[in-house]
Amino acid sequence: MINHDRLQNKLTILADAAKYDVSCSSSGGKRDNKGGLGNASKSGICHTYTEDGRCVSLLKILLSNHCIYDCAYCVSRSSNDVERAAFTVEEVVALTINFYRRNYIEGLFLSSGIFKNPDHTMSRMILIAKKLREEENFHGYIHLKTIPKAAPELIREAGLYADRLSINMEIPTPSGLAKLAPEKDHQDMIAPMKTVRDEIVALKDMRKTIKSTPKFAPAGQSTQLIVGATAETDRQIIDVANNCYKKLQLKRVYYSGYVPVLEDSRLPAIGTAVPQVREHRLYQADWLMRFYGFQADEILDRQSPFLDLDIDPKLAWALRHRHQFPIHIQYAPLEMILRVPGIGSKSAHKIVAARRNERLTLEHIRKMGAAVNRAKYFIITNEHNPHLHQLDDLDLKQRLATGSHSKYKQALSGQMPLFT
Ligand code: SF4
Repeated sequence: MINHDRLQNKLTILADAAKYDVSCSSSGGKRDNKGGLGNASKSGICHTYTEDGRCVSLLKILLSNHCIYDCAYCVSRSSNDVERAAFTVEEVVALTINFYRRNYIEGLFLSSGIFKNPDHTMSRMILIAKKLREEENFHGYIHLKTIPKAAPELIREAGLYADRLSINMEIPTPSGLAKLAPEKDHQDMIAPMKTVRDEIVALKDMRKTIKSTPKFAPAGQSTQLIVGATAETDRQIIDVANNCYKKLQLKRVYYSGYVPVLEDSRLPAIGTAVPQVREHRLYQADWLMRFYGFQADEILDRQSPFLDLDIDPKLAWALRHRHQFPIHIQYAPLEMILRVPGIGSKSAHKIVAARRNERLTLEHIRKMGAAVNRAKYFIITNEHNPHLHQLDDLDLKQRLATGSHSKYKQALSGQMPLFT
């Protein structure tokens, strides 16, 4: 029998403790419903986040905020004096099903502090997913956090029930992690990622010949990197993300500006602003790698290893490579159109399709969704373009930075001077 007051209390504690984890996007989930409850699909899951990082469409909780580890950056760390709680397996299952039935959520995002040991914690999380799938016939989305140092066979079992698995690297470099989480090692995170990658590949291959092969984490795996808790450069962070995509085949890397809520001489002081602009620029750089064909070393070189906070990284690249512009919108290859500031991936593809039949002007590309106020300095169109001669102006960056209306502009962070 579930005690609802106690459950409500646990929910308050364990949902609050989970809010620092931004890696709960549910994109890519697809699980067919054969007569059961719920339905996870690519379009069926909302990706909306509240301002403090909570994902509103998934029940996002910790199984427990008890933890035997003492990672400096984590509110659940063993030395932090916070109220502790733990759900039972049955409580998480009941909450998920009840919230789903009431249409509050579309799935479950389950993480946990490490209690007793990694294998024990991972086993409890697997039990929840297993019960949801096999006893409740739940076909909604399940994202499980894998626990560092959990046995590979447990990771393999988790992937049979979860749509997505993730393990948060948190601190991007081994040296930063050693400073803030001496009980952990980067390999504790890399090893399970390799297990998940290998299992995804192996089962996909097997399914080509044996149709009944079970699915394994069909929405792939992701990770989160904390930005600004340690002194990594943006270039180092981008390199880590690049490795995650290329070598570990991760679906997503999430960046989370460090929220200074803990007193610790190794961390930025409480009250230091969250580095939101920096986080935003890293997301933009990430998009350039994933969707725009940029290599990590094109985005930043070793001499200037931080992203420009005034302008987005694509514009920064174009301004550093003005000699490659202007390009003719009618004839340039798609790869170069994708590099024009103000032209997004969708607009670039529309341009390439439309120019087969039309002589394109700035007005045409504006109607295709491009930000012409930026693109006009970088492209030749089939009309006189009076802005082209400004491409070499020294104040072009200033003009474009002033004209951009980023919602992050006001959020310049006091944490940034740490690294200037
Ligand atoms: S192991 Fe995870 S939950 Fe525990 S203190 Fe470290 S980051 Fe927090």
